[in-house]
Formats: sequence, structure tokens, C-alpha cells
Amino acid sequence: MFQFTSIESYHEELRSGKISCTDAITNYLSIIEEKKHLNAFVEVYADEAIEKAAQLDKQRSAGMPIKLLHGVVIAIKDVICYKDHKITAASKILKDFTSLYSSSALQLLLQEDAIVIGSCNCDEFAMGSSNENSAYGPVLNAADEGRVPGGSSGGSAVAVQAGMCMLSIGSDTGGSVRQPADFCGLIGFKPGYGSISRYGLIAYASSFDQIGIFGKNLNDVRLLWEIMNMPDKKDSTMRQKLVLIENKTQDLKPLKLAVFSQAMAHPGLDEEIASTINNFSNDLKGKDFTVDEIELDLFDYVVPAYYVLTTAEASSNLSRYDGVRFGFNTGENTDLEHFYNKNRSEGFGLEVKRRIMLGTFVLSTGYYDAYFTKAQQIRKLLVDRMSKIFEHYDGIIMPVSPTTAFKIGEKKDPVAMYLADIYTVLANLCGLPAIALPMFSHSNNMPYGLQIMAKAGDELTLLNISEKLLKHSRIGISI
Ligand code: GLN
Repeated sequence: MFQFTSIESYHEELRSGKISCTDAITNYLSIIEEKKHLNAFVEVYADEAIEKAAQLDKQRSAGMPIKLLHGVVIAIKDVICYKDHKITAASKILKDFTSLYSSSALQLLLQEDAIVIGSCNCDEFAMGSSNENSAYGPVLNAADEGRVPGGSSGGSAVAVQAGMCMLSIGSDTGGSVRQPADFCGLIGFKPGYGSISRYGLIAYASSFDQIGIFGKNLNDVRLLWEIMNMPDKKDSTMRQKLVLIENKTQDLKPLKLAVFSQAMAHPGLDEEIASTINNFSNDLKGKDFTVDEIELDLFDYVVPAYYVLTTAEASSNLSRYDGVRFGFNTGENTDLEHFYNKNRSEGFGLEVKRRIMLGTFVLSTGYYDAYFTKAQQIRKLLVDRMSKIFEHYDGIIMPVSPTTAFKIGEKKDPVAMYLADIYTVLANLCGLPAIALPMFSHSNNMPYGLQIMAKAGDELTLLNISEKLLKHSRIGISI
């Protein structure tokens, strides 16, 4: 019987001949079939995954050395280009579009012999927090099928949660890896901006987007990040200095953590989550950690600043989908304006159109200074403030989301949905690395986690803190 716990033990079992890559793929394909109704996948690459597994099994039995991700079965969000495979960003406008090249990040995983089992459902163009804005319909949370898995990388989260693959990758512009990880009881890691190349990642808001990783085991998540954390000439916004993957031995000094009082006192925060996290952070004091409560008076501005800036960037990024060069075209060619109008009106879903309109508005003459410039100023203030804070602290801890996974169809008001991003967008506004760790179980039986942020470029400290904190996880997760 195939059972996955970590890449390390999987590789041991492969070496000892107890199992094969083919066993792994067969197992995952049957679970995908059995749990089809969760709607986590857009496309499953069954034949080629089986073929790749057989090839790897052959290489191993011929005595060839195994690479870092030999036979590791991963799934990718439908915004990550994979050469010769369809990619749609869960949008009708990209229906039938095929990637011409693979994203740099995926290429690095493939070079280490990962097997891609399929592409995952998500919110259209990664815009959303519930995976309900998808041309393929909603994804169901495997912990309670009446609830959302979070978004926008909901399919990637459920693929790991429901045991349909070992790990998956998604994208995080304002929480789309951390929040679904929180709702599904997983680790969701968003490295700092510029750590992983964005080349071949369909853009939502380019100065915020970052590829992230879902997994159930921290060392596995770390390994995928180490492999993808490579400079890439094709992405000029990557940070120049490569973070050295040092030996994991940690300092003995206590790690200094901080909690924002505004975050914990936020009126939208579920009382049970607030009291659990408060008690948890109090309990941490003295156990390898110091925890201080500090102020972030700009806290109420993070969501407005995020939505002004990301919609502005999205309105520009999405202007390329006009029916000429990409995908969907209604076939009505009376005149050019009508042609664009028709293709974009029919090709994009409601939330994407809302954001294009909002973004176009905040960038328009007469309103630019009142909204876009102001939001940029807030962003700058936040970046400065956070870097000051990190002169004194190793990490900030916060909830990931104000509530556990809500019911499908429950959140109808888009503004209420935006406001629920209060804890995740700060890391993207400031380009900081952040992670969601599965720690707790709510009285409604849903999992939820704890978020940690570290200073720009310091993924290593973030992962070290995570390792220590996961030892206190109350829902049993392997490190
Ligand atoms: N929920 C946020 C939004 O809708 C984040 C999305 C993301 O990270 N891709 O913009």
C-alpha cells in the first residue's frame, strides 16, 4: 500500500525496492478519479505521468543516481506555464491556449525529475479568496465539502490536502497560497518577492506575484523552495543575491517574535482564533522565543492599498487578452471596438471585469493622485516601517485569515471578501517571505493556522522559526 509522508522516506522506499514511482502515480491517479467531485484539477496528465514514472523506475533499476525530486509527484496551478500543455488561468478567455514554453520555476523542478500529474483549478487570473471565481466552477474543501478551500490557489491546496499528489505549487499575490493552506490544514509558503522567477507565471499584479508551495512536510516544502530559488535572467525583478542555503543548525539564542496589537484586536477576527493565538503566543515565551506586542498603526490601510495597486497592475496586465493574440474570440468582426468589446465581455468573468474597471479608474487622469499615488505612498511607508521592525525582531506572527473556511456561496459581497485578506496582503505589499503553518483545529472542526513573516530576503530564518513552531502544532504535522 502506497503511503506518502516525506520525500526522504519515499526515496528510501524507492531505493530499497519496496515501492516504485509507478506505484506512486497509480495511487494518485486513482485518488484523483475517486475524488473528482472536489474539482481540484483542470487537467490530469495521466498518460505522460505514467510514462515518466516508468522511465524513472527503469533508470533506478539500471543503477543511475537519483535526483533531488526523483519521482516526486506535483501538481501546478493553472497559471504556471508548462510547455505544450494547456493553460487557461481558469478563464474562458484563454480557453484552448497552449503554453509555448515552461516557466523557469517549473523547469527547475522538472530538471530534478519531478513528475507533474496535472494542472489545478483556481480563481480566474488568481483573483479571489475562495476559488469560486473559476470558469470551471468551485473547488470543494476536502475537510468539509460544503466549504470553500480558500483561494485563489484552492485546487492546488485541495490536491495536496486530499492526497492527490505529494506537493503542489501555486501563486501568491496577496495570500493565495497561505490562505488556502490555512483553510485546508497545510503548510503554505510564499517566499519573498524576487526569490523565485516569475517567468512563465501568468501575471495578475507583477510587483506582488510570487510562486509559492503547498505541502504537508516542512522539509519537503523547503527543498522545493531551495530548488526554485535560483536567479533567472528572464525575470529582471529577481533579487540579485542568491540566498545561500546554509546548514540548518540553528543559533541557540531565543528567537524574537512580535505580534501586532491591531491585528489581534481586529473586529473581524473570530474570537476563538484570537484567543487561541493569544494563548499560544503567551505560551511560547521562554520556549526558545520572546514574544512582544507591538503597534502597526498603518494596519487599516493595507487592504485598500493592496486593492488599489493590484487592480491597477491587473488592468494593465490583462489588456493583452483581446482575442487577437490569445485564446477566446467570439468570431464577430464587425469593427475593431466591437471586436475587443465582445471578446473581453464574454471571455472574462465578473470578478476580473470588476478589477479591470477598478484598476482603470484608479489610474485615470484626475483620480491617479488621489488613489494610485496615495496607495504607493502607503506601500513605501509600510516597507520602511517593516524594515525598522525587523531590525529588532526575527519574525512577526499573525493569524492567516480572520475565520476558518466559510461555506460555498456564503460570502456574496466582494468588499467583505477583500477585507478578509487583512492578514495576508502585508507580506506582498512589502515583498516579505511569509508562511502559513497548520497548527490548530477550531470547534467547528475546521483547521486553521498561524502566519509568520520574516524580513526581506530571510527565508532561512522564517523556515527555522517554522520548524520550531511546528513542534507545537496541535493537529499533528510532520516536520
Ligand atoms: N485574495 C487576494 C485577491 O483576491 C489574493 C489573491 C492572490 O494572492 N492571487 O487579490
